[in-house]
Formats: sequence, C-alpha cells, structure tokens
Amino acid sequence: MVYPNKWNLSHYFYTGLEDPKITMDIANILPLVDNFAKKYEHIFHTFTTTTQILWFYNDYTIMSHDMATPSYYLFYRSSLDTQDLAVTKRMGEIDYIYTEASNRLLFVAQGWKKIWYNQIITWANDPALSRYKNDLISTSDSIRYILLEAEEKVLNLKSRPLGLANSLHDELTGSYEFTMMINDEEKKLTEEEVRSYRQHIDRNIRKESYHSLRRIYNSKQTQISLGNIYTSIVKDWSSEITMRWYPDTVMVQRNISEEMDDAVVDMLLSEVEKAYPLYQRYLKIKAKMLWLENIFAVYDVGAPLGIVDKDFTFDEAYDLHLSVMKDFDAEFYDYSLKMIQEERIDVFPRAGKRGWAYASYRKWEESFVLLNFTGKLRDVSTISHELGHAIHGYLSQWQEAPVYDSALSMAETASIFSEMLLGEKVKSLVTPEEYREYLNERLGDIFSTIFRQVQYVAFERDVHTQIHSGSELTYKDLNILWRLHQDKLYGGVVVYDIDAESESGWSMIPHIFHTPFYCYAYAFGNLLTFALYNKVQEGSLSVEDYKDILRSGGSERPRDLLSRYGIDIASPEFYQSGLREVEKMVEEFEKLA
Ligand SMILES: [Zn+2]
Repeated sequence: MVYPNKWNLSHYFYTGLEDPKITMDIANILPLVDNFAKKYEHIFHTFTTTTQILWFYNDYTIMSHDMATPSYYLFYRSSLDTQDLAVTKRMGEIDYIYTEASNRLLFVAQGWKKIWYNQIITWANDPALSRYKNDLISTSDSIRYILLEAEEKVLNLKSRPLGLANSLHDELTGSYEFTMMINDEEKKLTEEEVRSYRQHIDRNIRKESYHSLRRIYNSKQTQISLGNIYTSIVKDWSSEITMRWYPDTVMVQRNISEEMDDAVVDMLLSEVEKAYPLYQRYLKIKAKMLWLENIFAVYDVGAPLGIVDKDFTFDEAYDLHLSVMKDFDAEFYDYSLKMIQEERIDVFPRAGKRGWAYASYRKWEESFVLLNFTGKLRDVSTISHELGHAIHGYLSQWQEAPVYDSALSMAETASIFSEMLLGEKVKSLVTPEEYREYLNERLGDIFSTIFRQVQYVAFERDVHTQIHSGSELTYKDLNILWRLHQDKLYGGVVVYDIDAESESGWSMIPHIFHTPFYCYAYAFGNLLTFALYNKVQEGSLSVEDYKDILRSGGSERPRDLLSRYGIDIASPEFYQSGLREVEKMVEEFEKLA
C-alpha cells in the first residue's frame, strides 16, 4: 500500500504564514490573557470552594490551549525547514508575546502561593476535584520555589536570551553541511544521512561517517559556539537552583518535574553504572565476531555483523508496524492507520529538516510524528517508537488538560513497548542468521537507551556540579570529561583514533541542551517497560491494564500508579530484574556467536 509521507499542516492549522487566521490568532493572544486576568486577578487568591476552582481550571485550560495553537504550527513548520527565516522571525515575535502573556499571568502562581499548602491539599483530597488531584499535589509541592511577583517578572524577562541560546543551537546544527566520500565520490549529506552510515557494513564507510561528523563538530568554530551555548544553559540552571532555594544538588529541579524521588533516581543511575561490564561483555563478543579484537573502534560499536543488510521501503516498514499493532490491540492499530492516512507523519529526511524523530501531542488535538526514514531496520523501530508516543497522546485524552501529560519518566513507556512488540514480530519472520543480526541491533539499541543515557546523565551531573560550585569549563574541559565517562562505559574495549581533547561527542546530543537530565527518563522508561512487557507476556498484567496505565496520563505519581500494578520502583530489585533481562539477551547472543 502506498502511504502519504508528508504532513498536511494546512488541513490542521493554517494555509500558510500569509493566512489571515494565523495573524488573527496571534493578535488574539494578549486579549485572551487580559480577559482571563480581568476575571481572576483580584479574586483568585481568595478562592475557597471547589466550584470556584473548577471554573478557574476550565477557563485556564481553554485559554492555554487557544494561545498555544500558532506556536505549535510554527514549531512544526520550523521542523520541516529549520532554515526558513520567515518562520524563525514569526517564532521570535510570538516568543515576545508569550513573555508578555506569562508576565500578565504571574498572579496565578502568586495566587496559589497565597491560597497555600493546606487549602490546596484539602482540594486535592476532595472527590469533586479528583480529576485534578495530581496537578493540585504538584502545585502544593512547587509553590515553595515560587518567588515574589516582581522577582518572577524580572526572571521572565531575563529568560528570553536563554530561549535564544536554545534556538541558536538548533539553527547552527541545522545549518551544518556534511560531506562524505562514498565510492570515490564526494557526497553532500544531512546529519541524519551521515549517521545512518554508522551502521554500514563497510568499516571504511563507518569510519568516514564518523570523521565526517567530527570534521564539523570538532572544528574550532563549532566547538567554541556549542561549548558556550551549553555552559550558558548550565549556568542558567545553576542560577535557578540558587535563586529559587532548591536543595543544593543539581538534579533536584528535574526530579521534581519528573515526580521522581531523588533516591529513586540515584538508585537507577548507580544500578546501571554497576552493570556497565555487561555492555563491555557484549562489545567484546561483537569485536570477536567482527574479527576486530584489539582494534574495535568507536565507529564499530553500531556495526552490523555482516550477514544481513536489509533495506525497507517506507510502505513495507509501515505495513510491518501495522501488522504488529493489529495483533496487539485494535485501538493501537486503528490509531496507527489514522495517523498515516490523515497525513500526520512526515517521513523522509530533507535538507534543512530537523534531525532525529519526534512525536508531538496535546490535549484536544491529534498527534503528529516527524521521522527521518532511511530504510534501515532501526528506522522501522523508530516508526513503532514514535507511533507509541502518538498513541499514548491519544489515550491520555481521557484526562483533563492539567494532568494530560505524563511525567517524562513515564513518557517513554508506550514508545519502547511498541518497539518491543515489533521486535517479537521480527524474531518470528527471520532466519537464524538474520535473528543474530537482529539481536545485535536490538542489544545495540538497548545499550544506547539504557546505558549510554545513564552515561550522558553522569556526564551532565559532573558538568553541572562543577559549574554550580563555581568552576569555569571550556570546550576542551568538556571534551576531556566526556572521554572520561566514555572510558568508564567502554571499560577499555573500544579504541579511539582522536585524542581526548578533541572528543566532542557531548555537543551532538540535543537533549543535554534542551532538557538537562532528561536522558535518565529513557533509561528508566526502558527498564520499566521490560517489567511491564514481561508482565503482559506472562499474563499478570492485561492489555487493558497496560492501556489504563497509558490512559492515566499525568494523573498520578509514577510510584503510586505503578505500585497499584505490583511494581515498586523504589526497590533495587526492580532495576536488577530489568537488567537481568538484558543479561539474558547477551547470553543468547553469546551462544549464537
Ligand atoms: Zn521517545
């Protein structure tokens, strides 16, 4: 079947930047905010009844939704072409309006602060407000970090340049042009295309792909700009800790927004770090299978074993995803089909298009998925991954807007679960040789999404801790620190052909720029998904229970929600049992070697 492969944004949003409706919607943002403020500014902090707070929630969520629509459109447009200056300009204008809007809405946080903890908790326990319970609990937790109105105003205005640092990162990295010598011919490629050669069967091409990225990212200009952007972001994070009186450890802000206890996150990190030798064990077998013992390089980590180099067309890949969903659950299948038929998946890489892949969703709206499909088995997994997110966004529509989004640590559940379902299907379709190849790729992915993410976070924690205690770090310091963490992960199995001072790997990870410490959510999500997946397979968790977990969106703390299904995320055994699943796969891989 031939599927549409581009977003139809004009159907869902506006016909273009010239559409009078977008101009009107943007012009309407501040009046919306003013109306809301007129209605609530002088009375919100005096609210005592559930009826009052329900009105407030209702008006607040409708306003928030309507004012965000133009920015969703512009964000999607800029994803399709990061170099479109007209879009960038509009985004800048709208950012200015949002800053103004959030200044006018500061009374809300101040109002919560005046209402204070006891009243908020009373509401949280009121059955009439049960649909908002978790938002009330989060609010009661967060009010102690809110400063006075005038102070918040200053911070708001001063935060605009930080937004610039983030978009500067996207614009810069989106503008890089990569070249690779392939068959004695110099080719111009996007970063995504270059990366896909990291899984190429020919070692020289892998090496060339690695150096193609390094030529750009290791250039002094790139290093200076990305290094300074990164440390600015870290410094801003550090100032927040000081100004808002957060406990003095660098990850607390993230843990609060993640609704994760500090001790749980520390346990996740240390349990995975303890298991690093498992990764090294896998790499050693792999080096042996590839006849690369003692010369196994960074660019060999993602190498295929050499037997299968299967290519998929997008249509084949999507059919495979659909057949997996069909076997699993009717709703998963239906929504996957709708997503593609209703033109909400943008499939192929293009010059200027944002790299990687993402799914985007929000209350009252359909999900959107962006891919950079290059035809590899990995890209097929990415389809299932992102569609998992899209379906999660759809199932969470059950929740009210303030508790619609799940914490990031739960946000990767549906995506990884769908990837695992796809994995089972692949296993049943292929020959033993292909299965060995598949297992190699699958393990590569698992180690990336659990172990490497933990390594990223450990690196970030070091950088943030040093900067927070007053050290100044140059890009060379960052490079050396990065190498240290890589060494710990690889344990001497991998050799490098560039020195530690040129080790710019950190600068290629968008997450550490955009969402500090986000990456632990991937590690947590993966281990959690192993647990849920096993439970569904062995029948101790029904598909309906699993869907209920997804439907719960952000309406419950992860720890409470999961404990209702017999999972205790505060116990080391939880992490160890997830890691044992990985070990089983490594043992299987060893046997096949
Ligand atoms: Zn994801």
